Amino acid sequence: MGIEEGTFVKKYDLLGCIQCGRCTGGCPVTVRTPLNVRRFVYDALNEEILEELSDKPEIWDCTTCNTCALRCPKGLEPFEVLIGLRSMKAEEGNIEPTARDALESMFNNGNPWGKPAAKRCDWMEGIEGVEKVRILEEGEKADVLVHICCTACYDPRIIPLARNLVRVLEKAGIDYGFIGTEEKHCGSEARRLGEEGLFEYFDEENSELFSRFDVKRLVTLSPHCFNTFKNEYQNLNLPVLHYTQLIAELLESKALDLPGEIASRVVYHDPCYLGKKNLVFDEPRYILGEIKGVELAEFLRSKERSLCCEGGGGKMWVESQSKAPRLAETRVLDAQALGANTIAVACPFCLLTIEDALKVKGLEEEMRVADILELLGEVI
Ligand code: SF4
Ligand code: SF4
Repeated sequence: MGIEEGTFVKKYDLLGCIQCGRCTGGCPVTVRTPLNVRRFVYDALNEEILEELSDKPEIWDCTTCNTCALRCPKGLEPFEVLIGLRSMKAEEGNIEPTARDALESMFNNGNPWGKPAAKRCDWMEGIEGVEKVRILEEGEKADVLVHICCTACYDPRIIPLARNLVRVLEKAGIDYGFIGTEEKHCGSEARRLGEEGLFEYFDEENSELFSRFDVKRLVTLSPHCFNTFKNEYQNLNLPVLHYTQLIAELLESKALDLPGEIASRVVYHDPCYLGKKNLVFDEPRYILGEIKGVELAEFLRSKERSLCCEGGGGKMWVESQSKAPRLAETRVLDAQALGANTIAVACPFCLLTIEDALKVKGLEEEMRVADILELLGEVI
């Protein structure tokens, strides 16, 4: 098994569990998969069967949405047990080929999408009103260092988010800079797919990379990078913000104004890694409230109770066995019931999964999903 007796039980504080079942009771994927996280926490007390537990396909159904950790009265993080079991499979190289390819590409190319590192900054070309995106030289000073998520660098659907972020920063007159083609994956998805060693590599590499610049804050486009840099890196000494936090600050201080208007009933979907993981609930809503013409609606399941879209936890590369409707489909039906025309998000994965769900439900004519950066791009 390769682990010392008692290590797994201690690492995840399994003896602290009182088997109350609040984790499973709150777990959003139980409606469509056999995952019972409470049961895993209990069964893993017997370390002799860890191998057997790691063979259960439902360990890959967890989206790492953090609901179980928020609900646990004993302060456990039940989903971490599932990541620990995934690690055992990853160590053996016994994982889905799609996940294996993503992990290999993270190491070889610095991104999970199999794209060349040399093309990482192609998205910066020809941004409206921006002569040249500033890439920092070693030792150069800036107030804000911006990290762009791999998906926003390469996916044509997500690239406009990165471009709009530049437009916003330029308009607000922020002293910002980008890393350039040396920028790499944050490691969040490597860790969720069970590759702890690869995650540690990104922690060391990126922390060293960021330390080459004389910057005050690190700002991310994706909540996944934000969470990882802020809470999981052991070697980083920089305050980390999600872009919604920076833009809320700019609007509040009047450094940024939004002259345009969007006449739409908008409902905001909390990305798990921003909301349930980091309790950033107010800033995205504040930004939306500052856009003229926006009428804000609220999901019944929002903030700490928000429904996960199933895009996190490495799920972009692991297909669920279940054929039941995905949670993102439930989400778009909830939005339809609220009479919303726009579902606003602040995460590349949420944008992709919810857009897909709109197509599956045939609702793309009636409603759109847009990242807050896209909406800002229409009003600055
Ligand atoms: S919520 Fe916490 S204490 Fe309750 S069963 Fe789950 S892990 Fe155990
Ligand atoms: S993190 Fe979310 S999906 Fe995973 S076990 Fe916990 S509640 Fe369920």
